[in-house]
Amino acid sequence: GSEGNDSSERQKLRLPEIKFTRLFINGEFVDAVSGKTFETIDPRTGEALASVAEGDKEDVDLAVKAAREAFDHGRWPRMSGSERRKIMMKFADLIDRHVEELASLDCADAGKLFTHTKFLEIPQCAENIRYFAGAADKIHGETLKMSRELQGYTLREPIGVVGHIIPWNFPSTMFFFKVSPALAAGCTMVVKPAEQSPLSALYYAHLAKEAGVPDGVLNVITGFGPTAGAALSSHMDVDKISFTGSTEVGRLVMEAAAKSNLKVVSLELGGKSPLMVFDDADVDTAVELAQIAAFYNKGEICVAGSRVYVQEGIYDEFVRKSAEKAKSWKIGDPFDPQVNQGPQVDKKQFEKILSYIDLGKREGATLLTGGKPCGDKGLYIEPTIFTDVKEEMTIAKDEIFGPVMSLMKFKTIEEVIERANQTRYGLAAGIVTTDLNIANRVSRSVRAGTIWINCYMAFDRDCPFGGFKMSGFGKDIGMAGLDKYLLCKSVVTPIYNSPW
Ligand code: NAD
Repeated sequence: GSEGNDSSERQKLRLPEIKFTRLFINGEFVDAVSGKTFETIDPRTGEALASVAEGDKEDVDLAVKAAREAFDHGRWPRMSGSERRKIMMKFADLIDRHVEELASLDCADAGKLFTHTKFLEIPQCAENIRYFAGAADKIHGETLKMSRELQGYTLREPIGVVGHIIPWNFPSTMFFFKVSPALAAGCTMVVKPAEQSPLSALYYAHLAKEAGVPDGVLNVITGFGPTAGAALSSHMDVDKISFTGSTEVGRLVMEAAAKSNLKVVSLELGGKSPLMVFDDADVDTAVELAQIAAFYNKGEICVAGSRVYVQEGIYDEFVRKSAEKAKSWKIGDPFDPQVNQGPQVDKKQFEKILSYIDLGKREGATLLTGGKPCGDKGLYIEPTIFTDVKEEMTIAKDEIFGPVMSLMKFKTIEEVIERANQTRYGLAAGIVTTDLNIANRVSRSVRAGTIWINCYMAFDRDCPFGGFKMSGFGKDIGMAGLDKYLLCKSVVTPIYNSPW
């Protein structure tokens, strides 16, 4: 009817202008050596958004060579921290100036909500650069209390050429979680964005150059994982790989590092994070928090609170209110400010989520709400809630990476701690309670890298982020995020020129 026409009028596709589609090596945009390109798809329509250069081993070699030269002989690692800071501040300002274009790129490329990307995510990326820029002139070692007549001190030096391999769910945030601290440390780098969302990374490379980041310091190779990504992780001249992505690929990256030059590896991997809601919680607030935890960014978020444990006293009310609330969740074009949820990133992800939903039903869980694709085109899936989920079911164990919540009932604190820890992952966990004793006890007992109490996904650039167990190791952001791009060198001299 007319309502449909109105909404299709309102939601007229906003297609961003795409300026950069070639590899960025040594300060220039260039074609891939092979001349090959690939299409990046708009998940709202399933149609191609742009043809992008398909980098492979030869291109990675050129980019690493440029980064090596810039590290071994260039200005960046030798510049004073305050000079690096000035350039990084300028880089941040340029991002703020181009926020509208950058947000459009991520939205059309990865189906992300435009208003969130424009007003939250990308401005926070600029702030993230400023945070690490502020650290660039405060990187120093220690004076040691040696046990003999020696003077000893440590220097903290940039680790060298870094390879950053990043996923598609937060193309901008992931870029700067890695690039900002590495720049502050004085490293040079090659970034391999995900093939599903390569566009904003190329734009950032252009802005970095405009801000004064010297050629060769920041290179971007677009392309696929098994080719470009693997070439980077097995490269003999890369000193460190910082990877964010799936646990399976994290294992491949670590293997490649072990088999090549034993480069230092840090891994930010998947999760199956528990959100624990206790009897004393305000049910409406807890329901809302649970839905943000499970459905934000269409569930394509490594910290998704996909296992929701609710204590028996409020369980029935929680289930009823969850079903009502999920139905009010608005799905559609992510450029529409009224919309809560855009399309899944690609067909593969879309089908994987639907097959997990099907598996949940076959394993005997009860489908409370959702469970189907929606809209006649585009990769949209209804927010989905299962109840009667058992720990041994696959949907309670595997990371689904889509808008699917498993609701489970528990009786005691001991029981929920035990069940929360019954996972190979350990990325994050949430606790909803007003009882300080419960909050303290549970937060110390759950093995996960981040614990959110009465909040969820409350990221902050000063708060180290990274997993335990098979969610990986090494921290992004916070001062711990800077440490991983630095080496500690010890320098020793005799105090009294004595003959040693
Ligand atoms: P993925 O592991 O398939 O891809 C991630 C990146 O690795 C991409 O750039 C890809 O091209 C590259 N890659 C693929 N194969 C490779 C190989 N053999 N060698 C080197 N690089 C290779 O993951 P995805 O599907 O893009 O992202 C989803 C996963 O990422 C989820 O499991 C999610 O939990 C995880 N993730 C984790 C975090 C975190 O911070 N912990 C953040 C976002 C996403």
